[in-house]
Amino acid sequence: MRIGHGYDVHRFGPGEAVVLCGVRIPHTHGVLAHSDGDVALHALCDALLGAIAAGDIGHHFPDTDARYRGADSRTLLRACFAMVGAAGFALANADITIVAERPRIASHVGAMRAHIAADLDSPLAAISVKATTSEGLGFCGRGEGIAAHAVVLLCRADEADA
Ligand code: MG
Repeated sequence: MRIGHGYDVHRFGPGEAVVLCGVRIPHTHGVLAHSDGDVALHALCDALLGAIAAGDIGHHFPDTDARYRGADSRTLLRACFAMVGAAGFALANADITIVAERPRIASHVGAMRAHIAADLDSPLAAISVKATTSEGLGFCGRGEGIAAHAVVLLCRADEADA
């Protein structure tokens, strides 16, 4: 088995929505980002890449590359998952925690999990998305940005069906 961890932060900026786990959520701000700024999927990508010791998304999809301008992070997620498969591993489960005072996440969790389950070819029961505030403390608490943590467990693909 392999464990991977990912962490990402994006700063709020002008805009009227944020994208989290592929779900567009109306908000008083957007996030500053080269891609769609989906912190949750960026953390998940880094967890997948970390589990196979394949670097990070900044390495594979550099923000200096115009091809990734405004990129749909679900496309990046599927590309990372393809690397996991090529390395001989399958997903056992993934767990994501989004840290933000606003916007509220709870009503969107079902759609978020469904997107990830589809992109990672996994059952919903293997995909967890949850959110917390930081009780007004730190940059998330001050409403300056959003952070996300992700952990994944991979198993050898040839043992996944056993
Ligand atoms: Mg990012």
